[in-house]
Amino acid sequence: MDPVPFIFDLFDRHGSRAYTMDRVSQLDHALQCADLACQADHSKAFVAAALLHDIGHMLHRNPPDSAQVERDLFHERVGSTWLARYFKPEITEPIRLHVAAKRYLCARDPGYVQYLSEASVHSLALQGGPMDQREQAAFKASPHHEAAIELRRIDEQAKIYGLRTAPLERYHSLLEELVCRQ
Ligand code: FE
Repeated sequence: MDPVPFIFDLFDRHGSRAYTMDRVSQLDHALQCADLACQADHSKAFVAAALLHDIGHMLHRNPPDSAQVERDLFHERVGSTWLARYFKPEITEPIRLHVAAKRYLCARDPGYVQYLSEASVHSLALQGGPMDQREQAAFKASPHHEAAIELRRIDEQAKIYGLRTAPLERYHSLLEELVCRQ
């Protein structure tokens, strides 16, 4: 399967779904994340990770509005596992770890929780709450943990209703370039 048309189709079919309890959609959130990654001069792989970090929400057969979920659907695993068939770990590992990064930051910085949206506080509890010491050590052992933390910080900022962004089409050639073709 060619993943890039599939990804564009996913955004087409499910991108208008609500991302948070307010009116920001999945597509808006993804594009705001990618814009922030570009503005910070991150690598192409990181920009792709920012754009695709929540794709797991859209890969569920009947994707629910994330704010309404009462159990953890492990969207970071669903998304990173699917993406790992086509993209390298520099893209998929920060995605797999972006929920862990939230749990890590909440453990290390008690003030961090104030940056979380209401929906993100809600999901934090479902995801296991702040990490304990052993979980923090395991998280830091990953070579991708710093990228995951950076992705998380961008993730928290990219929830602004009505913000203008570059269109999804802007990332078409970037994604095509990053697909690993055997
Ligand atoms: Fe997100």
